[in-house]
Amino acid sequence: MSEAVIIDLRSDTVTRPDEGMYQAIIDARVGDDVYGEDPTVNQLEAVAAQMLGKQAGLFVSSATQANLAAMLVHNARGEEILLGEQYHIFSSEAGGTSALGGIVLHPLATDERGGLSLPQVLAAIKEDDPHLPITRTLSLENTVSGRVQDPQQHRELAEAVRAQGMKVHLDGARLMNAAVALGKPAAEIVDPFDSVMLCLSKGLGAPVGAMLCGNYDFIKSARRLRKQLGGGMRQAGVIAACGLYVLEHNIERLAEDHETARQLAEGIISIEGLAVRHHTNMVFIEPDENDIEPLRLHLQDRQILIGEQKPPIRMVTHLDIDSAAIDRAVTAIHSFYR
Ligand SMILES: *Cc1c(COP(=O)(O)O)cnc(C)c1O
Repeated sequence: MSEAVIIDLRSDTVTRPDEGMYQAIIDARVGDDVYGEDPTVNQLEAVAAQMLGKQAGLFVSSATQANLAAMLVHNARGEEILLGEQYHIFSSEAGGTSALGGIVLHPLATDERGGLSLPQVLAAIKEDDPHLPITRTLSLENTVSGRVQDPQQHRELAEAVRAQGMKVHLDGARLMNAAVALGKPAAEIVDPFDSVMLCLSKGLGAPVGAMLCGNYDFIKSARRLRKQLGGGMRQAGVIAACGLYVLEHNIERLAEDHETARQLAEGIISIEGLAVRHHTNMVFIEPDENDIEPLRLHLQDRQILIGEQKPPIRMVTHLDIDSAAIDRAVTAIHSFYR
């Protein structure tokens, strides 16, 4: 069967550039960004900073690199980050902050919405005692596995820890999904944070790249850190053009992904014995243990790919998934349970 008919629900990272994006690449003016001379990168950094209400922005190769650079700016060796145990920096970045920064990670249990509570965070801040690391940073996430976090609660957490002299970072890989779902400007959601990371290549659909934003001093330090991490790029305008393109064209349309995810969840909710949850552009199912591999293979035979994770198994909608694709997925899942 041809590649085009595959319905890939594993992640929103699998999207391919469309024609408009390829045209943006062709049209991009470029220069050497390590000299600060790439006009397209400079424009992307300005646009992203403005969109997030921060003084400056930095274009980096990946969301993981953005998080790592931010953590290395905020924390010296032996200092500590508080974060949710399932947050990406702790769970899925190969321990980079510890391996490369000598930074201690203190994972906290999250509630059913993926959040942290104020008393829990305050209790985790270490006293000034030579036995203990210095608690320097609180790192939050939005969305957390598709779940939108309450901006007011984030503000309370951020203000409380900043009052103790700590920094607060937002891993906003899918921040725009949260902004669209809440109907609030992203800048308002990230206002209480010292630094914020936005991934351009998740649901927004760029092939590569992420933005890190914060104040001038923070970004100046992050730029040096990016160099240390080998992330200085040269005529990066060819990829920055995709970033500009998605910030202009693909934010509002995330609502369509939330809608297709809803369509998928509603299509399979009636299946007996299959727990189904839906958050923004993600649907989670919990099949019976013995059904997991057979279901995956059944769908694979029908050119439908779902997440590899242990249950709950994830299905993610994105700009290459339309309502017709969801119809096919729903039919295929029903045909397994028939
Ligand atoms: C995907 C993701 C990242 C990292 O993105 P990469 O493209 O893999 O570097 C960081 N944080 C969160 C919450 C993510 O979902």
